[in-house]
Amino acid sequence: MLGRHRIEDALWREATRGLSFLPPGEKLKRLALLFLAEKQFVGAHGLEISDAMRVSIAAQACLPILELGLDWYCGFTGIVVYPGDFRVRRTLADEAGVVHEWDDELAGEAMPGGPVVLSWDAAANDAHMNVVIHEFAHKLDMLNGEADGLPPLHREMDRAAWAHAFREAYEGFCDALERGKDTWLDPYAAEHPSEFFAVVSEAFFEHPAETRRRYPDVYEQLRLFYRQEPP
Ligand SMILES: [Zn+2]
Repeated sequence: MLGRHRIEDALWREATRGLSFLPPGEKLKRLALLFLAEKQFVGAHGLEISDAMRVSIAAQACLPILELGLDWYCGFTGIVVYPGDFRVRRTLADEAGVVHEWDDELAGEAMPGGPVVLSWDAAANDAHMNVVIHEFAHKLDMLNGEADGLPPLHREMDRAAWAHAFREAYEGFCDALERGKDTWLDPYAAEHPSEFFAVVSEAFFEHPAETRRRYPDVYEQLRLFYRQEPP
């Protein structure tokens, strides 16, 4: 059972099994409990959300804000969970005024001012991405307007240093991808600077040493932003 005042040890263990990148200790657990009290989970397509699923999502979502606090996830309460990847209808008018419509198949989506939408299958089984950290990183990015790869930086941080580190890394990444080189990071990161920020945030928490080795300047900026130095 998921109590109001604590998450039972057995439930926490079950929910975080396989998530070896999560730090040990009570701090994350306490934040996850606050997160669960504040956010509302909705199962889509008939999905029944178990306590273990909620705790698993909460634990991963709280990792980026472990040293920032829950206020950084203000402005929305809903977390919609689909059993698997979900389709969204896109429409876009081109320069000639022709409206194009197509379906996108997504593992996750963060809506500006709205909920975070997740595929449980991707969250639980996709070893190549961390859809929870990814979508919540987008939420941080959206705190100061459109998702553009620049979240609100702390006062002591240098905006120019952030911009320089991310621009160099992003351009180098897109270039390597174009030349067919192995990019290590998910190629999806090349879609947009905001996707690069979300994907490299996943890497920062899941594979910090390798992230530091490959992207030292970006790693440094993320360390200052998240106020964490993952082990
Ligand atoms: Zn994304």
